[in-house]
Amino acid sequence: MPFYFVSKFAGPEGYHDVHVDDGSCDHAPEFINRQPIGFHLSGPQAVRYARKHFFARADGCHTCVRGCHTRAAPFPKTRRYG
Ligand SMILES: [Zn+2]
Repeated sequence: MPFYFVSKFAGPEGYHDVHVDDGSCDHAPEFINRQPIGFHLSGPQAVRYARKHFFARADGCHTCVRGCHTRAAPFPKTRRYG
C-alpha cells in the first residue's frame, strides 16, 4: 500500500496534484511543499481523501497516479471521484 502526498500549492489549472511517495515521479513538488495524506490502497482513494480533508480541487498526478487524472481525461468520465 503506497504512501501519498498532495501538493500544497495548486498548479496553473488550479488543481492540487496527488503523488505517490516512492521517488519515481518527476513532477512531484519540492519536499517542503508536500502535504502527506497517508497510506491508501489506490490512487482514487488517495485523491478522494485529499479532496475531503485538504483541497476540494485535488486531482491525481498524470504520471504517478494514473487512472484518476480526471481533468485531462481524453473523454468525459462517467464518474468522478470525490
Ligand atoms: Zn506524480
